[in-house]
Order: sequence, then structure tokens, then C-alpha cells
Amino acid sequence: MSAPEVLDVAVVGGGIAALTAGLFAAGFGLRTAVLTEIVLGGELINLEEVDRYPGLTEPVSGSELASRVEAQAVEAGAEFVFDDVTGISRESGGFLVAGLSDTTRAATVILATGAKRRKLGVAGEDALEGRGISYCGTCDGPFFKDRPVAVVGDDDFAGREALVVARYASDVTLITSRPDPQLASATYQAIEASERIRVLPNAEVTEVHESGGVLTAVQVRDVGSAAVTDLSLAGLFVNSGMAPNTGLLESLLDEDAGCGVVVDAGMRTPVPGLFAAGGARRGFGGYAVMAAADGATAATSARDFLRDQAE
Ligand SMILES: Cc1cc2nc3c(=O)[nH]c(=O)nc-3n(C[C@H](O)[C@H](O)[C@H](O)COP(=O)(O)OP(=O)(O)OC[C@H]3O[C@@H](n4cnc5c(N)ncnc54)[C@H](O)[C@@H]3O)c2cc1C
Repeated sequence: MSAPEVLDVAVVGGGIAALTAGLFAAGFGLRTAVLTEIVLGGELINLEEVDRYPGLTEPVSGSELASRVEAQAVEAGAEFVFDDVTGISRESGGFLVAGLSDTTRAATVILATGAKRRKLGVAGEDALEGRGISYCGTCDGPFFKDRPVAVVGDDDFAGREALVVARYASDVTLITSRPDPQLASATYQAIEASERIRVLPNAEVTEVHESGGVLTAVQVRDVGSAAVTDLSLAGLFVNSGMAPNTGLLESLLDEDAGCGVVVDAGMRTPVPGLFAAGGARRGFGGYAVMAAADGATAATSARDFLRDQAE
């Protein structure tokens, strides 16, 4: 499907930041399209239950939350264009957003392409992806029934990932480089109560070992003493932070956006008419409600920008 000839707002992305930006921009009466890869929901899609999202008093999955916001955005008048965006460039009076199948012209662009999981960065990791190393506990946890696994990560999302995979695995080691992982109290209590999860503090994975092309063990190093030990494992779930997806802006921004696009409080980038929201921006707070708020803020700023241009 193609968007109208010249949009007011092209939102690039399909996660909660993009969906909310589309909802708000269309709700302001702006001609809005959300240009997204075919699967909507972004990181939320694999969440069985979205935690810490205001108003969700009953358990709601990430895909259900995304569908609800998509329906609201469609109702508000946003169009959805399912196309992988391959480039964003300036043209007089706005932007060209190139996709695999089509090119869209828009007066403003909101980049909401999120972030991808950071890799561990150890030798052999790529070859073992899908062969013992995973970046999604909900997706791959069931493959490790009654076998030992580890989750690497320092934050609450890593703790919750450990709880998910503990439903299947014989035992789970939560490897954190900190003295304690930064867990919400509910996660902390659930991990404390679990007989299958143990926390390995002050540790980092330094090597992955394989046999026949399948993960068999990891080497962990104590960050204080530098002592190393091997852990026999069938699975390793990597949750070591996010790398913002900002490659589409390389030609538009002078600075390196590798750590996220720099924005002001209105989600404005240094390029007039270009905004960034959610996991793609520097300083993003990490939670879905914050991504949604970013999307709403960016849409509000786009509306104000267009109004100022028209005056
Ligand atoms: C394991 C884990 C558990 C989590 N649990 C929770 C939780 O319980 N509660 C909570 O509040 N938060 C949770 N989060 C965080 C939450 O998932 C993120 O805050 C949120 O998904 C960020 O939304 P986003 O829209 O910025 O990015 P994303 O969700 O990453 O969405 C980015 C979107 O952009 C699309 N895209 C990327 N590039 C292109 C392109 N070139 N063309 C078109 N589309 C593109 C992608 O397909 C995707 O749809 C969790 C995160 C993780 C990793």
C-alpha cells in the first residue's frame, strides 16, 4: 500500500514509540503514515506480559498492547505502510523516505526504529547464534527443556528473562557484571523464591565453547580478581543492553548517532523537521511507557513545527 503523495508526518518504525507517534500525529489531523516492517510491536512482540505500563491492571501481552495502539492509530486516521525503510534524505521542503518497495515524501519524519540487542562481543558468538546462543528467552526458552542455561545481563529485563527461561531449563545462572543485578522488587522476590535460578555476581562472559557447532560451555571471569571458570551450558541468553538503530540517519546527522540520536526535550534532532523517539534516541529510559511518551512528544513537536512553517 502507498501513502498519500506528500505526508505531513512519516513515522518510521513499528514499535510502541512509532504506534503512539502515529496515533498522536493522526489525532492532530495531520496526514500521517507509519512505515514499518511487516511485524508490528517491535521489542514488545515477544513479551508475554508487559510490566509497568500504566493502566494495564490485567496481564496484557506485548503483541496485544501493540494491536490495541495500532487500532487506535488507524481509528485516528494513520495509514500503515508495510515496507522496510532503507534511507531517509532531505529534499526541498521535507524528506524522502525510501523503502524497499516505495518512496514516501513527507514534511516531517519521526524516527522510531528502536534498538537491537547488543551482542556479547566474544569470539564465536555469531556462529553459535541459534545453536545455543539466543537473544530472546520467550522465543527460544522452550528449546532448552531440562537443560542448564545462563542469562547474561544486569537489569530487570535480564532478571525477568531468567524467570521466563527457568520455566523450561533445569537450572538458570543469571550472570551479572554488578555486585547485584538491578531488579525491581517483584523480580528480586521471584528470583529469590526460585529454586532453579542462582545469581553469579561480578562476572562477565569472556569465551564461548562449542562442540560440533553447538554451545557447550562459557568461560566467565570475575571482574574483581580476574579468576576464570567454565560453566557447562546448553543455552546462553544474552541481554547485555541495546544498540540504537540509527543507521538511516547517517547521511543527515553530522555527529555519530551510534549511541542513539541526540534530541532535545521535544524529541527534535538538530535537523529541522526530523524527530526521534524511543529506543532509537540517546538517553531513552528503557520502558515501553517512556517510548510511548517519546512518540507522543515527537508528534506534538512535529505538529508545532508544521504550524510554525505555515505561518
Ligand atoms: C527482554 C525485554 C523485556 C522487556 N520488558 C518490558 C516490560 O515488561 N515493560 C516495559 O515497559 N518495557 C519492557 N521492555 C522494554 C520495551 O520493550 C522497550 O522500551 C520498547 O519496546 C521500545 O519501543 P520502541 O518503539 O522505541 O522500539 P522497538 O520496540 O525496538 O521497535 C522498533 C520498531 O522499528 C521497526 N524498524 C526498525 N528499523 C526499521 C526500518 N528500517 N524500516 C521499518 N521499520 C523499522 C522494527 O521492526 C520495530 O517494529 C523490555 C525489553 C526487553 C529487551
